[in-house]
Amino acid sequence: MTKFPDIKRAVVVSAALSFLCLFPFSGLSQGIDPAKDAGVDYQRQKQVTDRFIVPIESYNGFAGTYGELRGDHFHCGLDMRTGGVQGKKIYAADDGYISKITIGPWGYGNRITVTHPSGYKTIYGHLLGFAPKYKRLILEKQYAEESWGQYIDFPADSLPVKRGDLIAFSGNTGSSGGPHLHFEVLDENDVPVNLQLTGIFSLKDSESPAIRDVRLVGCTPFYGTLYTFPLKMAGDTVKVPKAFYAAIDAYDIMAGTPGKLAVYKYEALLDGKPFFCFTEGNIPTSTGRYIASLLDNPLRRSTGRYFIKTQIDPSNKLADRIQAENDGIVSLGDSLVHTLTFIATDVYGNSSRAEIKVRRDDSVYSGAVPFSPDGEFVSWDKECKFFYDGLAVTVPAEALYRNAFLRVRKLKDSYTAQDNVPAMSGLWRVGDGDIPLHKSVSIVIRADIPAQYRSKALVARVSSDGSLSGCGGTLNALTGEMTASIGSFGTFCVTADVTRPEVSVKIAEGAAVKGTSIKCTIRDRLSGIKTYRAEIDGHWVVAALDGKTATLEIPLGDARISKGKKHSLVVCVEDNAGNKTTVTRHFTW
Ligand SMILES: [Zn+2]
Repeated sequence: MTKFPDIKRAVVVSAALSFLCLFPFSGLSQGIDPAKDAGVDYQRQKQVTDRFIVPIESYNGFAGTYGELRGDHFHCGLDMRTGGVQGKKIYAADDGYISKITIGPWGYGNRITVTHPSGYKTIYGHLLGFAPKYKRLILEKQYAEESWGQYIDFPADSLPVKRGDLIAFSGNTGSSGGPHLHFEVLDENDVPVNLQLTGIFSLKDSESPAIRDVRLVGCTPFYGTLYTFPLKMAGDTVKVPKAFYAAIDAYDIMAGTPGKLAVYKYEALLDGKPFFCFTEGNIPTSTGRYIASLLDNPLRRSTGRYFIKTQIDPSNKLADRIQAENDGIVSLGDSLVHTLTFIATDVYGNSSRAEIKVRRDDSVYSGAVPFSPDGEFVSWDKECKFFYDGLAVTVPAEALYRNAFLRVRKLKDSYTAQDNVPAMSGLWRVGDGDIPLHKSVSIVIRADIPAQYRSKALVARVSSDGSLSGCGGTLNALTGEMTASIGSFGTFCVTADVTRPEVSVKIAEGAAVKGTSIKCTIRDRLSGIKTYRAEIDGHWVVAALDGKTATLEIPLGDARISKGKKHSLVVCVEDNAGNKTTVTRHFTW
């Protein structure tokens, strides 16, 4: 694999505060006043949710709570731990009807949605399977359509349920990191309800959150334009530049639950005066995506952790639950010692506080890498188009959260991405990965694609070690240009997916199968799997795909085949470039 030169980023941060003074706190933040959260009628919410029962036969603590930071969204349910096992009985939380059942390899996996007369909905995710009467109904549909994946909406009168009815069994399907039930409540406007503010669970928490880390980041008004500060900390006082913002890494702790849970409220104060406060409340799914604007992206990339930054981006739609002075920027006019205080509060009002002393000292600039405007100016609220010899870039309006300079370079005129495929385009660096994107950016790369590769060509992202990931793309046959949408900035080229999907059936040819299913892994390297099909004795069988393990499970019990006989299994997988793999096995069962 060819490597390309590492690109130096003139970014990064500040003073890591390893000597934070940290203690439980009950002075400034006297618990939470839910009435202050934007537009939430907590009184009514509680009236509705007090009717709901705990929807699982038993559980031991939580693996995740409402509002946890997940990079591109806030976690909007409660994750109830099931002690490492699957198959716990799941009950309807209240009277209503099953309004949706979805089955897929990612996300919620197997999911049921129940709609209640109040207009509220409850969602049960990562299920192992459904109660027998629903399972039969779904199987009929899967066989009729020869499709395992389902997204079924049911009318109001077809599948009524009573509170406490068995509807499903807990599992680990979809994007789940271990057996648990994801339970979520939506109000009549489909806004996920903060379950810790409801009466469903008699939760007790007297532990304060932990403030793990605080960083101070020297700033200018643009992305990618931070000064680089060497670590200079003398005595108890941190030397800081004139203008900076703070970034806070905190999580909540609850007795009996090992998870790092959600902090409900973040506050930052200068000399006792608040300059930043973020309160979660109930977060609509549509604005939850703006979490990428609340998190410090360079710190996330360098530490792998989620820091809430006090600097407010102009496009941040979470602004209704943020109060900030001077857009969350601390600006020091003197060189006296000042006190910064950070407070993290959980939903029950338990707080922790961290305090540091800072003093403006312009000598911190002496070792810093100053920013010099480099690249194309992108205004966050306008569509911007840029053209180069061999590349065009379109950044839609509001794709960025704040103004930035977009650095675009051709790193190589001609780039061979894979040994078995010729070079088809240049290697292009488009923007800076530290700049988060709210919307996809369109790139058009001029390519010279030999005829035999045209149907398999795609745009690939090239990471610093040369490894590739496919971004799809469409070819304009007249101009030879490939157009693709990218969800984050990086380095790109045009190549082709000429490799067939990998299919590995986990039984030997002629095996006597004892269990109730046959497993098989299916993977595709660049363009991704488009379709798969499993047949036993020439008939389609319902094979469930688990996205996280790339495992296809072919159940023999549901396959409508007779026992004690010889059978043949055929698994056929096709990728998005039209490459196909077919594997056949004979077995007895
Ligand atoms: Zn969850």
